[in-house]
Amino acid sequence: TCGICVEKCPFDAIEIINLPSELEEEPVHRYGENAFALYGLPTPEPGSVTGILGPNGIGKSTAVHALAGERVPNLGDHEDEPGWERVLDRFRGTGLQNYLESLKDGEVTVARKPQYVDQIPKQFDGNTRELLEQTDERGELDTLIDRLNIRPVMDQSIDSISGGELQRVAIAACLARDADFYFLDEITPYLDIGQRMVAARLIQELANDENAERSMLVVEHDLAILDLLADTLHVAYGEPGAYGVITDPKSVRNGINEYLKGYLDNENMRIRPSAITFEEHAPRVSSKGTPLVEYPDLEKSYGDGEFELHVDGGAIHESEVLGIVGPNGIGKSTLAKLFAGSLEPDVGELDFQLDIAYKPQYIEIDQPMRVDAFLSSITDEFGTSYWNTEIAQPLQLDRIMEQDLVDLSGGERQRVAIAACLSEDADLYVLDEPSAHLDVEQRVRATTAIRRYAENHDATVMVIDHDIYMIDLLADRLMVFDGEPAQRGHATPPQEMREGMNEFLADLDITFRRDERTGRPRINKPESQKDRQQKRDGEYYYAP
Ligand code: ADP
Ligand code: ADP
Ligand code: MG
Repeated sequence: TCGICVEKCPFDAIEIINLPSELEEEPVHRYGENAFALYGLPTPEPGSVTGILGPNGIGKSTAVHALAGERVPNLGDHEDEPGWERVLDRFRGTGLQNYLESLKDGEVTVARKPQYVDQIPKQFDGNTRELLEQTDERGELDTLIDRLNIRPVMDQSIDSISGGELQRVAIAACLARDADFYFLDEITPYLDIGQRMVAARLIQELANDENAERSMLVVEHDLAILDLLADTLHVAYGEPGAYGVITDPKSVRNGINEYLKGYLDNENMRIRPSAITFEEHAPRVSSKGTPLVEYPDLEKSYGDGEFELHVDGGAIHESEVLGIVGPNGIGKSTLAKLFAGSLEPDVGELDFQLDIAYKPQYIEIDQPMRVDAFLSSITDEFGTSYWNTEIAQPLQLDRIMEQDLVDLSGGERQRVAIAACLSEDADLYVLDEPSAHLDVEQRVRATTAIRRYAENHDATVMVIDHDIYMIDLLADRLMVFDGEPAQRGHATPPQEMREGMNEFLADLDITFRRDERTGRPRINKPESQKDRQQKRDGEYYYAP
């Protein structure tokens, strides 16, 4: 038993967990006997951005229901609701006291951005303008529309705009409101780095609004953005679906460092067996790379030249992981399809005889089939202890093996698709946006699985992604896209990491410094001394 349940674990938890001793106190909320229990609450802080870092299913929404005053937490007593007075007693003397007092007096107004923006078209019938007009409580809507680049889709029906557009509309709709407490459940899905930075800046500006006392609470799985965005951080850990613990607030730097280390200092709690570490210096220039494929300059356009892609010829090395970065709408997926053979170039020829395994960006699974049947149809290794350790375990497939493909959530579908791609016997593996829909812990595990697979199989892998930490941890070299989104794109040949990062980040006007203790990359504040110095030196990522 895991310490929560007396009998056999009803949640079928794979790992036996020990309830940390400080949790012997009652939870803040428990849904029912043997049901999910939440320990701790995040602390909204007027004038600042509070982040939550942790996996899904750990009680973040449950906590927000409480902080939004939509549900009085039951303090573990699911039969007799104790009411706000007892909740206040419990939190007296903590950072939450003032907030809970206003909440009890009905003085807190709430604005929120839901996690799954794909659901919005099902709930709203109309165009972008109609959706946003209802939210303009501060008179700032026009500014938000411009800065989030929503103007081009104002008259488009909500059910016809792309995921990235929907995400920006949802962020604008939340930030346009006049509220005391803003809750944004993930801001980065479908957005490129430039768009992520804009959203982060808008949230900070609202927190710093001198005319009002606003608290911002943000859940985010992109660590570089979370680091930039949040002033303080709560780490959430536990066993998804069974119990969740939200720690006391930490500085954002310590919170992320402890999370990466896998060990929470104040809580004295190990949350992962091993640490995640970054290379502080650019990997040594690999002169000995043997080419797996050499390809000529390529061109591909759609329609009447509405979009044109130019690819500079280059070589992909044997056994390397090639990272691919660039804004949305610039031709990254088009290039992946050219290599995978599902599109033909207009100019240039890709005549290599390679077996290619391809995970597309948008995963379409329409046949009703169980996960285990699907995966065992791909590889004979299915179910061997080797396959289980290398693929099933890190991608957490055990609990979904018997489910039908069509019933999977976005994150589950992503993990099955990554597993399916890596299970193929191929020369080149192409993964288009593997971080999409994954929570932070799943990204860490997927990154480790892909990296280990590449090393153990001498496999050559191309990974397109917007998550800088994932790219940093995976890539040996980099291909960079630039151009004008939705009009023309240009891809460089694969480059060394230092050159590639410099080219990519110069385009975005972003520099990174290194955390002194762990060497992890952190985005510099624009115009800070480090930012200006690094730009002068032309060292955007690996500062000396
Ligand atoms: P997160 O926001 O971190 O993804 P949630 O707070 O939504 O997590 O959910 C945490 C756990 O509580 C989940 O396992 C979920 O199934 C369970 N849960 C959520 N709402 C209810 C409810 N009304 N009754 C019982 N269990 C619930
Ligand atoms: P990225 O992966 O970098 O976001 P894509 O390669 O998906 O970019 O798309 C590049 C551009 O080409 C976008 O403007 C997109 O709308 C357009 N595009 C993609 N596929 C098609 C297609 N089949 N027909 C017409 N236009 C397309
Ligand atoms: Mg794409």
